[in-house]
Amino acid sequence: MVSRDLLQRLASLQSSEGIVSAYVRLDSRLMYTANQPVMKFKGGAKRFLRHNKERRWAEALEREEQRIVSFLQDWKGGGRGLAIFACTPADIWEVVPVERAYIPTHIAVDTTPDIFILARVADEYPRLLTVVVQRDRARLYLVETGRLQDVEKLRTLVPGRHDQGGWAQARYQRHIEEHVDRHLKRVLGELQEFRQRTGYNRLVVAGPREVVARLLDALPNDLRELVIGTTEVDVKHESDEEVLGDAHRIWQEHERKVEKRLVKQLVEEAQGEGQAVLGIERTIDALLQERVRLLVLADGVTRDGSACDSCGFFAAEEFQRCPACGAEASPTDVVERAVERAYLSQDATVEVVFDEAREWLLAHGGIGAFLRY
Ligand SMILES: [Zn+2]
Repeated sequence: MVSRDLLQRLASLQSSEGIVSAYVRLDSRLMYTANQPVMKFKGGAKRFLRHNKERRWAEALEREEQRIVSFLQDWKGGGRGLAIFACTPADIWEVVPVERAYIPTHIAVDTTPDIFILARVADEYPRLLTVVVQRDRARLYLVETGRLQDVEKLRTLVPGRHDQGGWAQARYQRHIEEHVDRHLKRVLGELQEFRQRTGYNRLVVAGPREVVARLLDALPNDLRELVIGTTEVDVKHESDEEVLGDAHRIWQEHERKVEKRLVKQLVEEAQGEGQAVLGIERTIDALLQERVRLLVLADGVTRDGSACDSCGFFAAEEFQRCPACGAEASPTDVVERAVERAYLSQDATVEVVFDEAREWLLAHGGIGAFLRY
């Protein structure tokens, strides 16, 4: 998982000897093709060397290459990609597996690690916070890539209800409710603090119906926007696992719905001459013109083509010499080049779609983009 702590730690690394940052895309269908990750890495290294002008960085890459290659040869962890940061003289060796997001193969060498792609992936990665709230206590669960990452529990002293009737009872009841409000305010504070610390970007509110409604009412807009659903919980009888199971289902439904809406809109805009394109050729054109705002791809989509590493031209066809500048070109998966380009040169967002949305998009070439203009 790509946490903020990890990004901060990586960002603090530095060495004048040159830190190699190697992003390697893993194609799960080719996982058992001998040395697939190694081939990807070598292709990336070749592209880097082609446009790199500094000799010391070429030497740094050469210095780290064998260690990275050996590591990739032995990698059995699966996943969609790996980010490796290596600098032997400074005793730096960091491996970050990326499980669901799309990272393109990309190599860089500098005095600091190139964490840009990882930071973008971390920003967009769904991080689900489930808050189970009761009148006098609350539990917060942060889940990422299906794993529980963080738990926080808090409890506020709220006087109990009792059943004498009359005026005194009414006043006592108001007094209790003030305590509950104070407790909910604490929960809000905790939700805000958690957001700062972990960057969760989806929120499910669970608990007895009345308390859930009260917390929702009190949520500030920035947190309310993150709410993807609520679930009523019988706190006495449901375990944490059951509540988290519900939250996970809510989250999956939400993601599916959002992805379907996105693909539908993409297809409609592209076909209606709106600000969108579909298919690898048009998408690459838009990327080369730096017009892409949001790149959308079907999970697992790949496309063979060629890329020039001098001027950056690439296309979904085979060529040995770059049609744009005449320099040498090499074969590559152009979907990876498209993602690399979207992230690094136009600060675009990249969205990978799954399941039904994926099928829809595959029927239209598996890739498309919303444009800036
Ligand atoms: Zn070229």
